[in-house]
Amino acid sequence: MAFRKTRTRIEKEAKVQGWANVPDKTFHKAGITRAAATRLELGTGFKLVWPWDATYDKDRQEFDPAFQEYPLVVGFAETPADVAELLDFSRELSAPVPVVCRSGGHNTAGYSVVTDGIVIDMSLFNHVQIDPARRLATVGPGVTFAKLNAALNTNGLHVPGGECESVCVAGYMQGGGYGFTSREFGMNCDNVVRFTMMTYDSTGAHIAVASATENPRLFWAVRGGTGNNFGVLLDVTYQLYPLTTLWGFGIKWANLAAAPAALLMIQNRFSKVGASAKLGHLPVIMVQEKDTQASLGTYGLFNGTPLRDWPRSRACSQRRVLRSSSIRPTATRSSTRSSCQIRTCRPASRPFHLR
Ligand SMILES: Cc1cc2nc3c(=O)[nH]c(=O)nc-3n(C[C@H](O)[C@H](O)[C@H](O)COP(=O)(O)OP(=O)(O)OC[C@H]3O[C@@H](n4cnc5c(N)ncnc54)[C@H](O)[C@@H]3O)c2cc1C
Repeated sequence: MAFRKTRTRIEKEAKVQGWANVPDKTFHKAGITRAAATRLELGTGFKLVWPWDATYDKDRQEFDPAFQEYPLVVGFAETPADVAELLDFSRELSAPVPVVCRSGGHNTAGYSVVTDGIVIDMSLFNHVQIDPARRLATVGPGVTFAKLNAALNTNGLHVPGGECESVCVAGYMQGGGYGFTSREFGMNCDNVVRFTMMTYDSTGAHIAVASATENPRLFWAVRGGTGNNFGVLLDVTYQLYPLTTLWGFGIKWANLAAAPAALLMIQNRFSKVGASAKLGHLPVIMVQEKDTQASLGTYGLFNGTPLRDWPRSRACSQRRVLRSSSIRPTATRSSTRSSCQIRTCRPASRPFHLR
């Protein structure tokens, strides 16, 4: 029987043949020999991007273009075995190189890309498996909140998630993860019941399951201990909550001079003990689309219908505060959704008026 090569193998062999046009000095400049790069390229079944590849500048890029780093190679791992191969490779080189993981690439300090090191891109670990009966979801580290929320919404279930829909679970959960519903349900990491992580030591790669009862120290450390510290996160299991009727709102202060008073008001009236835990919000100073100047905005959700679920006297007094002359918002908008629909809260492009 004839042995047939896989399509990936054929593509990889063609790719390496194309390297005949790449001078040796290009490999040396990148800190690797042609032989070592060829060994990794042909020895793996997943996509690798090298400095001399056409898509290198796109594939090394973080969400924020302020961060410009030049890795030796970016590996788009598809399985835990791929992750282990990249970790092994970092140790096999004559001088070991640093390794960083990247899931959504949204790290606000640019920590998920590194010059002269290996980037393990985990964005293909983006599965979502929901068990509605047990209210559990097991997800990949590279799943975006757009994808996770879409899957949870169809089941009327929820876990506190990020404001930006292209942020991924890995960095968000390991950094704690504050969402619009965190005042009611806790930080995202508070809702992790189990995760799987690849650790690495002198004997090689190991897969550890962590929960309150298995590897409890790792379980404690990873939930809020920030990414890339303890190993490569492979999956996360969350406990979920039913979520049905939401009231979403956006309030904007175009006059930044009003921002300190508005922030104090938001903190005193809507954040401290006494405000309903069902109200979640996130104030940000930003420049919105079509605006030329920065403004203060606060966006949020109320889990329920305010007129029914929020004590009337409190709603009235808080509305009076919003109308007080010194900190009057320039625009507000609100909407009610009768089914659970957590998505990115985009700033209002047109003003909405307080009803
Ligand atoms: C536009 C925007 C909006 C945001 N909104 C919110 C918000 O509402 N609430 C909030 O709490 N935060 C928010 N953040 C912050 C965000 O949660 C963090 O930047 C988070 O780290 C992004 O996760 P990521 O996986 O997308 O990032 P990445 O840059 O891929 O990773 C972040 C860190 O985790 C490491 N890492 C990535 N994948 C893995 C893995 N599989 N295993 C181990 N380590 C890994 C990386 O090396 C890096 O150190 C926001 C950020 C942006 C840019």
